[in-house]
Amino acid sequence: MTTAPDIQACAKGLYINGQWRPAQGGKVIDVVDPSTEMVLASVPDATLEDASAAVEAAALAAEGWRNTAPRKRSEILRRCFELMTERAEMLATLISMENGKALRDARGEVAYAAEFFRWNAEEAVRITGEFGTAPAGTNRIIVDYQPIGICLLITPWNFPAAMATRKIAPALAAGCTVILKPASETPLTAFALAAIYEEAGVPPGVVNVITTTTPGPLTAAILADPRVRKLSFTGSTGVGRALLAEASKHVISCAMELGGNAPFIVFDDADLNAALDGAMIAKMRNAGEACTAANRIYVQSGIHDAFVAGLAGRMQALKIGAGYDAATDCGPMITKKAVDKIDRLVADAVKRGAQIICGGQIPNQRGFFYQPTVLTEVPQDADMASEEIFGPVAPVSRFETEDEVIARANDTEYGLAAYIYTGDVGRGLRVAGRVEAGMIGLNRGLVSDPAAPFGGVKQSGLGREGGQHHGIAEFMEAKYIATSF
Ligand code: NAD
Repeated sequence: MTTAPDIQACAKGLYINGQWRPAQGGKVIDVVDPSTEMVLASVPDATLEDASAAVEAAALAAEGWRNTAPRKRSEILRRCFELMTERAEMLATLISMENGKALRDARGEVAYAAEFFRWNAEEAVRITGEFGTAPAGTNRIIVDYQPIGICLLITPWNFPAAMATRKIAPALAAGCTVILKPASETPLTAFALAAIYEEAGVPPGVVNVITTTTPGPLTAAILADPRVRKLSFTGSTGVGRALLAEASKHVISCAMELGGNAPFIVFDDADLNAALDGAMIAKMRNAGEACTAANRIYVQSGIHDAFVAGLAGRMQALKIGAGYDAATDCGPMITKKAVDKIDRLVADAVKRGAQIICGGQIPNQRGFFYQPTVLTEVPQDADMASEEIFGPVAPVSRFETEDEVIARANDTEYGLAAYIYTGDVGRGLRVAGRVEAGMIGLNRGLVSDPAAPFGGVKQSGLGREGGQHHGIAEFMEAKYIATSF
């Protein structure tokens, strides 16, 4: 089988009710290869009529899908996993082309994304209820878990496959029908996956995919339809806040996976090489374009200089290039705007006293690149200590005590991931308990796993995705029946 993606096939239309169709009005969105700045393809720019057709399709399919036997739903989800795995190389290349990430990262994403189907295929047949006696002995209590209804799923560009499957797989396992609105920078992967769902046997209307340049009005219209009962969003905290306000008008259940500002803490007693390996993963997966990316690296004084030297050596060895070039370690950023933001944050940190150890420049080449960069002495009031960098910049600061670093780690509105490296597991667990984050990597630079609950505290979000029951629970409502017999 060829591993080259058929780009035009991925751009053949909106996917509504099992059909591929142009947008009403015929407008399109250009999808740009961030390595070359060239247009890869154009996808339809959906209108309010298209959004309404997607809701109609999801509503039409809802009854049949919720009544499909869990075993049958499970088998379809399992088939999605198998087809994604068979076509992993094609999907990884496609992700590299539209998102820019290095092939190694794209392959990792496809495996992670496919796993949500396998995991939820296994969970689909294990949804159970509860049965008990009221404390007063007067009656019995039955709790049944039912699909919540039509779900609007909105996803970002940084994981075009995984952020979609992390929502679609549990929603389908729970018996819901969905409308996916992927990011307009990376819609091709979402459409390639829709073709796979269709081939796997997902019935028409169960998954609908629409792309648009006007997400605000379209999502507002979808949320205003009383048949839509769930909004599951992954993206920035700013857009999340706006969507929560919109959803509140209709009291719609919301799951929010928002921005992060992960601290990466290295204590003196850490294994230096393990900490460096972990830092490279936590910082450089997707060239730093990850919500879980290490955004602030705090290193204790005794190990600080050796850590900085080791990190700079590793960062300087990274090869910049197009993601789909097999030799590339660090691909381009998603847009010029993203590069400009990184440049602004670096300039601000330097102005406030940070030192550039390596990198710190926009390379003079075509594409949206930024050099892998290490900064030291980054002050806590630098903009990058409170904003997501979302790029290959590692800001290091020195600390002395456990209490000091915990206070600095928690000095943010975010609370998604945090990383702790120490040779003392007791200390690691103690610090993990005090750091305000939904997920902790303790001597590990990677936390994501479909079998574990992914999500944040504070302004990093509401709810959890993945995990034994958490992911599916987001797409179900508990119905309580009181009875006596
Ligand atoms: P974004 O918030 O700009 O966009 C996310 C999605 O929302 C896109 O599909 C976009 O088209 C859509 N959108 C934008 N404005 C909208 C509006 N007014 N109404 C409805 N939808 C709208 O985020 P992004 O730049 O695509 O992604 C990067 C952000 O996502 C970062 O903040 C990152 O931390 C976060 N993220 C979080 C997680 C997580 O699991 N917590 C995972 C990946 C990314």
